[in-house]
Amino acid sequence: MSNEDQRPHEDREGRLERQFTQAAHDPFDSRHHGAIHVPLYQNSLFAFETYAAFEDAFKDLMQNHVYSRGNNPTVAALEQKLAALEGAEAAKCFASGMGAISAAVMGAVGQGDHVVCVDQAYGPTRELLSVYLKRFGVETTFIDGRLLDNWREAARPNTKLFYLESPTTMRFELQDLRACAALARSIGARTIIDNTWATPMYQNPLALGVDLVVHSITKYIAGHSDCVGGVIMGSRELVDAIGNQEYMLLGSIMTPQTAALVAKGLRTLPLRMERHEASGLTVAEHVRSLPFVRRVNHPGLPSHPQHELGRVQMAGYSSLFSFMTNRPPAVMKEWANRLRYFKIGVSWGGFESLVTVNQAGKTPEDGSIVRLYIGLESPQDLIADIGQAAESLGLNDPAAGGADETPKHESA
Ligand SMILES: *Cc1c(COP(=O)(O)O)cnc(C)c1O
Repeated sequence: MSNEDQRPHEDREGRLERQFTQAAHDPFDSRHHGAIHVPLYQNSLFAFETYAAFEDAFKDLMQNHVYSRGNNPTVAALEQKLAALEGAEAAKCFASGMGAISAAVMGAVGQGDHVVCVDQAYGPTRELLSVYLKRFGVETTFIDGRLLDNWREAARPNTKLFYLESPTTMRFELQDLRACAALARSIGARTIIDNTWATPMYQNPLALGVDLVVHSITKYIAGHSDCVGGVIMGSRELVDAIGNQEYMLLGSIMTPQTAALVAKGLRTLPLRMERHEASGLTVAEHVRSLPFVRRVNHPGLPSHPQHELGRVQMAGYSSLFSFMTNRPPAVMKEWANRLRYFKIGVSWGGFESLVTVNQAGKTPEDGSIVRLYIGLESPQDLIADIGQAAESLGLNDPAAGGADETPKHESA
């Protein structure tokens, strides 16, 4: 088979159109008097007409409504929609992305087990593995996930989990999802991927053989910077097992109010992602042309070293990317201060553009890595904003120490 034949999203347009309907449409439900949104079930518990029905419901706490730490109808309606968009059999929503990630990971490992994790994974995920779960006898090897051989070489007889995040959300490095999933399967390990960056619109790892997908709902899925949430998606068997154990026992549940907010945001996910994708690419292309920028890390740019892999395993691109500059962090932080539309702050996925600045290497002289999140504003306004802040600091002036000789594709 050629790469072209293996593309999961060869029917990109048809698939994205279907997602518009899945996000906008709810089937008519006579239980809700024709209410156009699933009502907010503000209940801790659900009562039963007979004791027999009560006892019956206990046989499956994930499917029946008994207690809202297990299953709430407002949350369940959101879970169904998310599962449809991701192409999953089942979904379980959590209080946060980290709630979902810690439950998914803890559901996969026990004392004496070993995990292989991509070294650029979300910071708290790495801490969960390297510090927290280490206390319980779980060992983790962190690897550069771009090379399949690294996964193969890190695997041990007691490896129970490959933890992926593709693309990573600072340097935007990819893993070959199909190959990693096949390798894990061959050694009897589970695969979990953090799919937050691509959203269910632009990457469906379950179709490539990955066992479980996690998202921080806080980002694009909720989309309005107004709530925190997370979700695990996969087979009914795996999701229910986590529901019955980590969800019920650790209690990191999504509340019905949050589910109602997320459900509202989800209606426009396809619409927002189209805009984010186009604006993100427009701004990234522009940033690439700036004299003080060494390299832009955006998998949608043909200059990205893994652009072809991204083209094969993703249907599109979201709008968080970074660039490398030889200017020290102090200078780029002053540049960030002078931006008018980009706000300084963590997180991303909302309507508003954001910026953060980090040191790129061991010393300030190694330059900076600047992460930009492109919101829903006009990309032309954002480009002008980047320009005016750079101009006011003399960053556009090559004579004042502009672009250096560093190649656009450093290896790390
Ligand atoms: C934000 C984020 C998380 C954690 O999600 P929370 O909702 O903040 O707990 C996990 N992974 C990635 C890639 C994120 O950006």
